[in-house]
Parts: sequence; C-alpha cells; structure tokens
Amino acid sequence: MAKVIFGAWDGKVIDNRNRQIFEIEEHPEFNDFDEFNTGNPIKAFFGGHGFFIFEKKVNLLDALLHYMERVARESCGKCTPCRVGTQIIKRKLEDLVNRKGSPKDLDEIEIIAEQIKSTSLCGLGQTATVALLGMFQFFREAILSELSTPIPLRQPCETYVSAPCIEACPSKVDVPKYIDYIKDGKFTHSLGVILQKYPMAATCGRVCVRFCEMACRRTQVDEAVGIKVLKRFVADHEQGVINEWFSAYAPEDPKDPHLQVAVVGTGPAGIAAAYHLLLKGYPVDIFEAKSIPGGMAATGIPEYRLPKAVLAKEVSIIETLGGRIFYNQKMGRDFTLNDLVERGYASVFLGIGTHKGKTMQVAYEDPEIQGYDFGVDFLLRINHDYIDRGIPMELGETMVVVGGGNVAMDCARSALRMNVKQVHLIYRRSEKEMPADHEEIEAAKKEGVIFHFLTNPTKILVKDGRIRGIELIKMALGNPDESGRSSVVPVAESEFTIDTDHIIPAIGQQVELGFVTPKDGVELNTWGTIRVNPASLITTRKGVFAGGDCVSGPATLVQAMAQGEKAARSIDDYLTLGRIRFQPKERMSQLVADLQPMIAKGINIPVKHEYRVKIKELDPLIRKKIFEEVEKPISVDQAYTEAQRCMRCYRVYSAITEH
Ligand SMILES: Cc1cc2nc3c(=O)[nH]c(=O)nc-3n(C[C@H](O)[C@H](O)[C@H](O)COP(=O)(O)OP(=O)(O)OC[C@H]3O[C@@H](n4cnc5c(N)ncnc54)[C@H](O)[C@@H]3O)c2cc1C
Repeated sequence: MAKVIFGAWDGKVIDNRNRQIFEIEEHPEFNDFDEFNTGNPIKAFFGGHGFFIFEKKVNLLDALLHYMERVARESCGKCTPCRVGTQIIKRKLEDLVNRKGSPKDLDEIEIIAEQIKSTSLCGLGQTATVALLGMFQFFREAILSELSTPIPLRQPCETYVSAPCIEACPSKVDVPKYIDYIKDGKFTHSLGVILQKYPMAATCGRVCVRFCEMACRRTQVDEAVGIKVLKRFVADHEQGVINEWFSAYAPEDPKDPHLQVAVVGTGPAGIAAAYHLLLKGYPVDIFEAKSIPGGMAATGIPEYRLPKAVLAKEVSIIETLGGRIFYNQKMGRDFTLNDLVERGYASVFLGIGTHKGKTMQVAYEDPEIQGYDFGVDFLLRINHDYIDRGIPMELGETMVVVGGGNVAMDCARSALRMNVKQVHLIYRRSEKEMPADHEEIEAAKKEGVIFHFLTNPTKILVKDGRIRGIELIKMALGNPDESGRSSVVPVAESEFTIDTDHIIPAIGQQVELGFVTPKDGVELNTWGTIRVNPASLITTRKGVFAGGDCVSGPATLVQAMAQGEKAARSIDDYLTLGRIRFQPKERMSQLVADLQPMIAKGINIPVKHEYRVKIKELDPLIRKKIFEEVEKPISVDQAYTEAQRCMRCYRVYSAITEH
C-alpha cells in the first residue's frame, strides 16, 4: 500500500514529512497506488480535489507543470480567466522549472489560480487549480527551496481527463463533449463523439440503463441531466449522415486478408467488436444462430421501447463497413470453434450472450409443459414470430410473470399488448428492492399490471397435462444477510392460488451450454460463463476472446458494447504485436475510482435550479394495446435547453511515475 508523504485533498492537509515511513498511517484508498504498471512506482497523483506525494524525491514544480499543461490544453476557452489564465500559469511554471522565474511569480500564479477557480462557469475551470493552490498554500516553502536547486529533468507523467458521467459509463463515452456540441447546435459532431465508442447510438439513447445519469453531479442541485434523451435526440436527428459516413469510410491501415477475424453472435458485444475491428481495417465475418441480428436488443427488448427499424439501421453499419453476417449459423450445431480455426480465421470473438432461462425450482415445474415459457423465449416469440412474421399467439386470459427485473417488466407489459386481460407479476421481495428500473415499474403499474410483492411461487398446478394455476406464498422480510440485503422468509399458512394457464419465469438467464467442447480449449467458470482474463478478455484458448453477457452473466447493452470494444483492441494487439499492451487510460480510470470515497459531495457554486425535460409518452390506456414506441422524441429547443443543464464536470488527473 502506498503511503502519503504529504498532500492536500478537498482542503484536508496531510503532512508526514517528519515521520519515519513505518509511522505513516495507511489509507485503504491507496491500496493500489504502489505501482502504475509492473515495476513502475507512482510517485505523485494530482486531481481536481488536490494532490498526494508518495515519494520524497518528486520535483513539485515539474509535477505541477505537467498537470497545468494538460489543463491549459483542455480549457474550452469560453471563460476568459480559464482560457488566458491557464496559459499564463503554464508559462510561469515553465520559467520556474527552468529557474528563470523568481519567488514573486508564486504570488502572481496564486492570484490567477484563485480567479480561475472562482469565476469559471464549468467544472474544469472550477477544479483546474485546486491542486496547485493546495500546494502553494500549504507547502510553499517546499517549492521555494526547489528554486535554488539545479534545473530538473522532466519526470514521466500520465495525464487523464474525465468526468463522473464518463467514469460511470462502461464505454467511457465523452458525455460532456457530445452535450457541448448540442449546446453549440453541432448535432453531427455530437453524434460523432458517440460513434467513436459504439455504433448503436439511437438504441442506447432509448434503452441504456444510464449509469452516467446515476453519477451526474446535477442530482446534487435538482435532477440528473437527461443524458440518454440527448443521445437519442442527436442519433435520431442525424440518422441521415450515418450511411453517408460509413459508406465513405476507408480504414487508414487496411489489414491483410489472412488476418480475418470471426465474431460469433450479433448481440451488442459482437456488433461492437466487429465495428471496432472493421474500423481498424480487419476483414470480419460474423456468425449468428438466429435469422435476425441484434441479440437480446432485437429478440428480448420489446418494440414499444426499441423499434426494430432503429436497431436494424444501426446493425447495418457493420455490413456498410464491409463485415459479412452469416445467419442461422449456430456454433456447436452448424460449426465448431476448431472449424473456424481450420477455415483460417486468425482470431475469434465469442459474444453469444445468455439465452437459456432459469427455472424457479418449484414443485411440478416442467419447462416442456404447454403454457410454460421462459421470459426470454416468450419475448422472442412476440418479437420474431408475432411482430416480424405475423404468426398469431394463443395466450389465454390470465398470465403470471415471476421476477423483479427489467425482463419481467418487459414480459408483463408485452403480455398486456398481446390482449391478455390480467397480468400478475410475482416478486419475492418488496418494491423498493426490485432490480427493475423505477420508470419501468411505474409504466407497468400505469398500464394495469397487478403486482404481488413479497410473494413467492411454491407449486405449479397441473391438470390433464396443462397448466391450470400457480400456488404462491406470502413472504416476510427477515434479518439482513452479509450483503446488508434483507433476507425473505415464507409466512406460514399464507398460501393462495391464482388460476392461470400461462406462467412466465423471468428470474435470470444463463449461457446455453454445448457451444464448445472440451477439445475447443475454452473453459467456463463454475457459474457457467466463459472464463477470460479481465484485462484482455482472452479466453483459455490462444487467439480466442469473449465478452458481453456470456462472460459477465446477464448485464446491460452498454457493458456488452464496452467489452466488445475492449476485445477488439486486444485482438488488434494480439494480431499485430503478438502481445496485449498495457492500457494507461484504463489504469488512470482505476486510480480515479479508488479515490472516490475521498471525494466530498456538494456543489459549491450557485447553479440555477432547472428541472429536466419532460419526455412525452403515449397515453397508458392507448399504448397498452399496441406496440408503438411509448416515449416520444424531444424537440430541438428542448434538446438545447436540456444541454445547458450540463455542468461540464471535467476533471484533470495526472500521475508522476518512475519511467
Ligand atoms: C428482455 C430483456 C430486456 C432487456 N432490457 C435492457 C435494457 O433496457 N437496457 C439494457 O442496457 N440492457 C437490457 N437488457 C440486457 C441486454 O440486452 C444484454 O445485456 C445485451 O444484449 C448483451 O449483449 P451480448 O452481445 O453479450 O449478448 P446477446 O444480446 O444475448 O447476443 C448474443 C447473440 O449471440 C447469438 N448466439 C448465441 N449462441 C450462439 C451460438 N452458439 N452460435 C452463434 N450465435 C449464437 C444470439 O442469437 C445473439 O444474437 C435486456 C435483456 C433482456 C433479455
């Protein structure tokens, strides 16, 4: 564990300069701060809240110069004190490092730094000089004593710019940047920022679970910025440019045909992997078990949340870029991993998702019985058979859906749209513990889904080989378990039944086994997902990578796409260098995450309260009968107003290292 010799963070000063190393208190936040990468110690760390020095020999002025050089480069230039002030500070620090300045310069730098901090309108300017001011105010004598030493060699330094919303996003989309472009009316540029990370901007703009909004600092003022709806806005508004852009795209460095990559699965993970490989110039073939692309985004997520035409357009980018998709090709049935290697693919990416439903483990449960459908299979039939091909479905009058996640909500809300009169949703815990999105629960309630919280199935009632009902029992919250979550215990003699001929367990999915054989050399974990090295996503077989739900277990679109991008980077390294490179940005992101517990909450600057844009929705009484998209788009004016709410919480970080 690294120990802080001295530093200042959020106004709190640490000074251990006169202590022996063994006397210095340890902080768990610095557990991982010993080395930046193997054999390369972290000597100092700077950020928007302050700085920490881990080694006595750090040259402070040079370290500050590295930090302020990056700040000056990142200043957007809209606030004069930040634009001009950061340049002046940079120049004066350069002079001091080169021993051309005088102690008087410190006073001038301090005055300018205070002005930048107190007058800047965005998070970058407001935090850009905090570390510098902390050092000048609390450790001035250390800087003054440096001025009488010889000119130092520049120290190796890694700099990194991010914001809480960017850090929270698995794909690290530069959210403030695409919002800045909306503020400026440059919608095409805004879409370009998103497309740097993944091709499914309109899809994510509709169904992303919004880790970014959960981290948005605007929640400390009023409500999170509508990041998702702004993404949908630019993606829909600029959809015309997509085809034009990608048809004209020519990779800078087209790769040899013998470096062809096979991707298995056209879900978000496979699409993102193929996208980044194609952009890097690799020839890519994609093998998909079903007859349609898009994975769970196509076969699971219902049309009323994500119209299939929107998804299809974004998936088609892969073919526009030259990728070939082979449908009805299931690995383990139509071909094997070894076949792909024999056919000459230089590397393989597995993005096969989790498509096998989990049983409820109750009496008389038989997945083969008529009227029993796993949630994902039920949604697949609606999406593919009913909507795409017009095949009618007989569903009866009453349906019972079991589960508390988004898949359960999708099943219940889709069942209503399929004319089921009564849809009961069974969840064993209380409403506040439900994993589904709050908006989804509210929408399901408005549409008339009947919720039974603290209720669990015990038995399926079967007569003449058909489901006739389900027996349920009431549950009570018990003592919290190790994770702090309340346990649930059945309430004796509280059983009751619901008559139904259709039961949908939607309590989770797992990887469908049988896609690899022991000869393939791809190992699974004990919980049935593909085993990978998390740093590179390489499997236990050389040249074979995997990502998305089949690695993480059921997760989200944006997590799958982030893994697809990461695997593409690893495959590129593997094919061009024969090894996978260390990623300094990922390491910086990890260090920033480690420091989160030390960051004080609160917005110090006055911000005008302004609640987020209200998205128009179809009336619940109408929408529950049709599959038309529920959420309506926002207008250009609304997008502009919403974009102004972003506080641009950019922060600059730097790490001084040994080499
Ligand atoms: C009903 C439902 C609703 C959801 N709602 C949301 C949401 O609102 N927001 C969100 O962020 N996430 C949501 N998710 C989760 C999200 O859809 C998944 O996390 C994401 O699709 C995972 O992407 P993936 O590429 O890893 O796998 P998948 O999307 O599952 O794609 C895997 C692909 O591989 C193919 N395949 C499987 N086996 C083989 C094989 N042997 N050979 C060839 N091809 C194969 C499959 O047919 C599929 O096309 C939802 C999931 C479900 C089921």
